[in-house]
Amino acid sequence: MKRLTILGSTGSIGCSTLEVLRLHRDAFEVFALGARASDGRLLEQCLEFSPTFAVLEDAQAAARLERSLREQGCRTEVLAGARALVQVAAAPQTDMVMAAIVGAAGLDSALAAARAGKRVLLANKESLVVAGDLFMQAMRDGGGELLPIDSEHSAILQSLPEQRECWPHDVREITLTASGGPFRRTDPAQLASITPEQACAHPNWSMGRKISVDSATMMNKALEVIEAHHLFAMPADRIRVLIHPQSIVHSMVTYHDGSVVAQLGAPDMRTPIAYGLSWPRRMASGSSWLDLAQVGRLEFERPDAARFPGLGLAYAALRMPSGACAVLNAANEVAVQAFLDGALGFTDIHRVNASTLERLGDSHAQELGALLELDARARREASSQVRAAAR
Ligand code: NDP
Repeated sequence: MKRLTILGSTGSIGCSTLEVLRLHRDAFEVFALGARASDGRLLEQCLEFSPTFAVLEDAQAAARLERSLREQGCRTEVLAGARALVQVAAAPQTDMVMAAIVGAAGLDSALAAARAGKRVLLANKESLVVAGDLFMQAMRDGGGELLPIDSEHSAILQSLPEQRECWPHDVREITLTASGGPFRRTDPAQLASITPEQACAHPNWSMGRKISVDSATMMNKALEVIEAHHLFAMPADRIRVLIHPQSIVHSMVTYHDGSVVAQLGAPDMRTPIAYGLSWPRRMASGSSWLDLAQVGRLEFERPDAARFPGLGLAYAALRMPSGACAVLNAANEVAVQAFLDGALGFTDIHRVNASTLERLGDSHAQELGALLELDARARREASSQVRAAAR
């Protein structure tokens, strides 16, 4: 029995992880579940999976969960606050940690799991964007295993040789595929009036609201370029992005001999989740089987830099000093939240990101404290630009 902690269990990735676990109850036990404030959904999950701990960052929601669990006779212990998320991530009783909190809020707990030598199933790409060098060093120091959950990075891992030392010599470049989101063909003049509901209606994937907006702007791919740079120690100029509207080829590796190795599958996050849980073996995920004859066509095109200007910001940030990626991530989190709240237009997301990066992108920050300070500064700067855009 492997024991698992799921942070962000009430979200899209968290729920998909529990769906996979339902198929393998004899192989996995849930040690802890964690989220921000969704006590209702966490209650249902606790009643079904009986974890030792349930953690909510929000103290009032945690108190409600505690009362409801007692009424139902469930013995799960409830903890509250961000420190408790870190505790259950690093606890000796857990073997694996699914890091599926959205945003930089997931960094502390993911880092704690890395330092404690867990198998880290990393959905929270923002951890690597904000603190990539630190995070990869924590993984090496902790001696655990890092399994990316992003379908593109899982695909790259599956397409690379097992021996990591071969990567720099054998690989010419890696290509991340991108669906192009819901606005791949929208008249650019209409993008300014896009609503949050339109932006969250992704053609191929069902995801949380933040990553859905990121997919629509292609900032998700920008964050993934930075993620790939750290995960696979790949210079930015050897990471390409290709639009592939069918989302069947999840990404690919080009070798020096001219071979291209790719991983294909139906667009279903349960596949990379199951791969992370069972690696190096394979196990059922519940995903449907890929029928290429039914798919019929696989199309590819280069991303349009005018329509998706956010993608270029990743390459720009990777050329800047060490804190630039943290600045870009913080600005984007603020801008996307403002857009979801109706306080910022869709195309203004890029304006806020670009100008925050321009103002603060030359900042050096390597230690965790300095990165968090820079993150806070970038959030203040981006918030003031959101207010200015609203005037
Ligand atoms: P969701 O918005 O669906 O879920 C977010 C989860 O994070 C919820 O459980 C939420 O809890 C929790 N959370 C948010 N803030 C905090 C906090 N401060 N402390 C503790 N928990 C918090 O997001 P997704 O599942 O879509 O995405 C999660 C991560 O996975 C993101 O980093 C995303 O980029 C990545 N990812 C997602 C994919 C997808 O298909 N969805 C694909 C690849 C990567 P609550 O419900 O209580 O608010």
